Amino acid sequence: MRVYFWGTRGSLPASITAETVRAKIIRALEAAKARAFKDRADIERFVDTELPFTVSRTFGSNTACIEIKDGDEYIICDAGTGLRDFGNHHMKLITQGLRRAGGSTFHIFMSHFHWDHIQGFPFFTPAYTPGNQVKIYGYHEKFEEFFTKQQSHPYFPVPLAAMNADIQFITLDPGKTVRISGFDVFGIEQQHPGVSYGFRFEKEGKSIVYSSDAEHKTNFNSPARDENYPFLGFFQDADLLIFDAQYDWNEAVQSKEDWGHSCYVAAVELAVKAKVKRLCLFHNEPTYTDEKLEALLEDTRNYLNIYNDRKPHPLIIDLAYDGQEIEI
Ligand SMILES: [Zn+2]
Ligand SMILES: [Zn+2]
Repeated sequence: MRVYFWGTRGSLPASITAETVRAKIIRALEAAKARAFKDRADIERFVDTELPFTVSRTFGSNTACIEIKDGDEYIICDAGTGLRDFGNHHMKLITQGLRRAGGSTFHIFMSHFHWDHIQGFPFFTPAYTPGNQVKIYGYHEKFEEFFTKQQSHPYFPVPLAAMNADIQFITLDPGKTVRISGFDVFGIEQQHPGVSYGFRFEKEGKSIVYSSDAEHKTNFNSPARDENYPFLGFFQDADLLIFDAQYDWNEAVQSKEDWGHSCYVAAVELAVKAKVKRLCLFHNEPTYTDEKLEALLEDTRNYLNIYNDRKPHPLIIDLAYDGQEIEI
């Protein structure tokens, strides 16, 4: 089972600018100055193993969309702009003869309907292909309306009704576990403006928790510090926890308190208490540069060392980037 990250930004897409690309090239050339490369493979090795991530890559631009890869049917969480790239990837598999046109099933689980989580859907090419099934699940009532409105005049030229796949909207009950495409799926209500939901997916002893757009406060009297905090059970022993850590600690406790997002302090504390095996920080702040995001990852790992001191619990920590794939 693998998880692929098609979109990892929060709030809105963050394009990489000409100035940023230029700065990366200058840093790469500086690093390569004293080197003589034998051939292209030698250059690729240098880029892949010697240049820092922030020079050779980027955390990415797309908004929230992840894929759980296990079996023929597709499992997706959220329909941010990453969904467009996922759809294009599926279309490419068809041209390569690895999939046939029509006849695919896409299960899309929606945390909530803020822009950054639905704006990829009108550009999701497989939804225009007859014979495909697109099943969209959510816990909010009548959420079909939100998709319909997004593709209504004057917001978008192509109405939802013009999408030729069999599109179904299925409202789930957050108190109930449902079996979908071999996964047991369970939801939890999260603190976020307008309410969002996290999803826990379990199959054959493996568990993945997708918990984006959720605020867990880190004040001393916060419920998140309570031993009976319901999220501890929701995250318990997860093989992978994808966790909204949009802000640095300063912003989370000061200027952006009550904006509905968390920081790495909450991520580490809850993941350690719930004995999570791997934590992936997600919903990256769009104004943060690659360097700032890398520094946040470093701070998170440092905080784990401090927090973990008395009760050591091995925890792998990543900060998600577009194109990342994690084997569970
Ligand atoms: Zn969001
Ligand atoms: Zn949101």
